[in-house]
Amino acid sequence: PQPNSLYARDVEYVLHPNTNARRHEEIGPIVIDRGEGIYVYDDQGNRYIEGLGGLWSVAVGFGEKRLVEAASRQMAKLPYYHTFSHKTNEPSVELAERLVKMTPERLRRVFFTNSGSEANDTVIKMVWYYNNAIGRPEKKKFISRLNAYHGITIASGSLTGLPANQRDFDLPFLPVKHVTCPHYYRNALPGEGEEAFADRLAAELEATILEEGPETVAAFIGEPLMGAGGVMPPPATYWEKVQAVCRRHDVLIVADEVINGFGRLGTMFACEYYGIDPDIMVLSKQITSSYLPLAAVLISQEIYDGIADNSGRIGTFGHGFTASGHPVPAAVALENLDIIEEKGLVANAARVGEVMQSELRTLSDHPLVGEVRGVGLIAGVELVADKATKAKFDPVGRIGAQVFAKAHEHGLIIRAIGDVIAFCPPLIITEDQVRDMVARFTRTLDDVAESIGK
Ligand code: PLP
Repeated sequence: PQPNSLYARDVEYVLHPNTNARRHEEIGPIVIDRGEGIYVYDDQGNRYIEGLGGLWSVAVGFGEKRLVEAASRQMAKLPYYHTFSHKTNEPSVELAERLVKMTPERLRRVFFTNSGSEANDTVIKMVWYYNNAIGRPEKKKFISRLNAYHGITIASGSLTGLPANQRDFDLPFLPVKHVTCPHYYRNALPGEGEEAFADRLAAELEATILEEGPETVAAFIGEPLMGAGGVMPPPATYWEKVQAVCRRHDVLIVADEVINGFGRLGTMFACEYYGIDPDIMVLSKQITSSYLPLAAVLISQEIYDGIADNSGRIGTFGHGFTASGHPVPAAVALENLDIIEEKGLVANAARVGEVMQSELRTLSDHPLVGEVRGVGLIAGVELVADKATKAKFDPVGRIGAQVFAKAHEHGLIIRAIGDVIAFCPPLIITEDQVRDMVARFTRTLDDVAESIGK
């Protein structure tokens, strides 16, 4: 790179999140310069289909002027105010009301944060505060799943069940137990049907609760359809069985819809798709199409009342962020939800999602592909060294990273989660664009297969 170029200065000054720093010094950055619809452009003028919608999040696509205008209008009127100590503002109230009315009946109150990680930290603190308030302070443990992703702060990162996010940080730091995740392809026993697999996982959850003591287990947290751990749709009856176990032992159910929420599976929320009736729901990402940072925690009336009564007795609910209820992201969220509704993007995700799922499944016979899975506009393609035995590639060969890099040459950005290639394009994607995306991915896989002699 030219001395003093953006590339050179990036390498000199920036530590990138979730990136191998030494490797970044070698290969340098790709500078993303602008975006339009499902496409982003780098500073060399190369166009890419954003097959992951940024980080699973740009529902309405890039360059949506209505969101820019909504932000600008709100900036001009009230660019910032907080919601501590009885202050409020119109966009945050309107958004809270709208979220309560569009989510499952049980959810009655909203708490705003900046990010999904902070939202899950907030969940932990709310549940602890609530259990303290109602006189069961020993009920503090959370149960999560291996391969779950719930964020990267000390607390939310403790819920996360991915070795790379925990190993080098001495996590989990909190009382969190991780149970088996509902990844049928990898975790089912030989000959075990999906129903039996779901039964076994529900039994494992119940055994874990009993072993820990139900009086110590506060909540079970799960992404309805697991995303960042490798796109893993659960068996059809998994959630019904898990919910029954949780209810039996008075364990709260937390649905982390940070990726799933706002249409991704072809229903407004994945809770609808899987019949989940959570006590707490976490939303972020597509709530503003990530044009501005925002997340929301929705809670039941019972949890709200516990918190409210306790606040009356011993003081305030001492938790909140400078930007909780920030009016500008709230205004952008409201406009974004209008666009999702007006353009019928949830129905589009269902309809075009079916095309994406069936197009991707044509790759099931590809020599590199072990399994194609997904629902609506989210999918994972798991690469394997041996289709019959499901043997994984030697990690040294970094096959997922090879596919990720090669895809750029074909004008496609996807995500490699180890050897699982994830798709999560903007909800505005059309059928033709989906076909184009899968064609580019097929050429990518063919190139990589040829280069390793498959
Ligand atoms: N929860 C889920 C399900 C996520 O996928 C993510 C991020 O990918 C988070 C929480 C954390 O959100 P953030 O990156 O905004 O902290």
